Amino acid sequence: MPTRYSINPDTLAEFLQGDGTVLPRNNHHANWVGLINDDMKFKRGVLKAVKRFAESKPYRGNREAKEAKYRALLADLNAVYGLDVNVEFDADWDTDKSSGASRCYIATGYIVLSGRASVVTFLHEFAHALHGFCERRAVKWSMNLYKRTFPRSFAKLATNGNNHMATQ
Ligand SMILES: [Zn+2]
Repeated sequence: MPTRYSINPDTLAEFLQGDGTVLPRNNHHANWVGLINDDMKFKRGVLKAVKRFAESKPYRGNREAKEAKYRALLADLNAVYGLDVNVEFDADWDTDKSSGASRCYIATGYIVLSGRASVVTFLHEFAHALHGFCERRAVKWSMNLYKRTFPRSFAKLATNGNNHMATQ
């Protein structure tokens, strides 16, 4: 039986509304359920890059240290995909503000991160650099990758509909 996840809509909106291309807020949940697929294949090197980032403990350190970790991940992902995506950090990055103003300028390959230092937000915006405007593809790529590389954090996002941890 496939695992079904539901997500706290507020948490989901937190990282879905980053680029101005999202679906209406009340569609987030419906779009989320069904996109998790533990058999999803990633380009060779992707999982390794993000696992290495996870091991670098991106939640730790001051803003400068965190920025360096995100830049290192971006460099690794760029190398895997042969891309030249850049990242900038808004003045309010790594504060407790919403990361919802984070965005990706797809045409120029720029990610701008805003508000809370959020791994899943970064992955979501990189997915737009990779896959373009399609919100579904961006969510699918980033959330499956997040689940595989930050399983405990992912489980905190996922609930079984009663605010309990996800069951697998
Ligand atoms: Zn998006």
